[in-house]
Amino acid sequence: MTSIKIAIDGPASSGKSTVAKLIAKKLGYVYLDTGAMYRSATYLALQNDTSLTDERAIVKLLKDYPISFGRRKDDSEQLVFVGDVEVSHPIRENEVTNNVSTVAALPLVRKTLVDLQQQLAKKGGIVMDGRDIGTVVLPDAELKIFLIASVEERAERRYRENLEKGIQTDFNTLKKKLLSVTIRIVIGKFLR
Ligand code: C5P
Repeated sequence: MTSIKIAIDGPASSGKSTVAKLIAKKLGYVYLDTGAMYRSATYLALQNDTSLTDERAIVKLLKDYPISFGRRKDDSEQLVFVGDVEVSHPIRENEVTNNVSTVAALPLVRKTLVDLQQQLAKKGGIVMDGRDIGTVVLPDAELKIFLIASVEERAERRYRENLEKGIQTDFNTLKKKLLSVTIRIVIGKFLR
């Protein structure tokens, strides 16, 4: 069977990673969690007291502690490493979540991680999700999916995710926030 590259894009909480993981499992493909890579870069900066806007220093940290992926022995979970240290759970904590968009916006960090993602995707048999995957990371992907869900559904997903993390959020505020981000992204796309 030919192994293709599959790119999944779409707004926050539309279910991208859930669908990506299901496809990867069904086809026996690798699921590359690009969000985990940006989270790892943020974690490294925080751990090393590096300014979150110092892109050169963060790129150096990424060279000194390369990101890699593994699986738990029982295959139940994907593991993320920086250097020899397993960071699968620490990168999901609030401190990282609250700062990852700052680090993900740094051009040098994006270039470094996009290069790595493209390198990992070369052989095919891979599913990736996230911003810019279909346009910048895998413009030549054989299958591109843009996944959408209603603002109501997305707010519900985020609300449940937050509850699981022990974070209380107001449902209507969440809905308004997701809607305003979506509007900004759509307007941004038209103005490009
Ligand atoms: O998917 P996840 O929530 O783990 O992604 C964390 C953050 O990483 C996103 O909110 C976004 O700021 C950034 N990201 C990105 N490009 C990607 C994947 C994630 O900028 N391809």
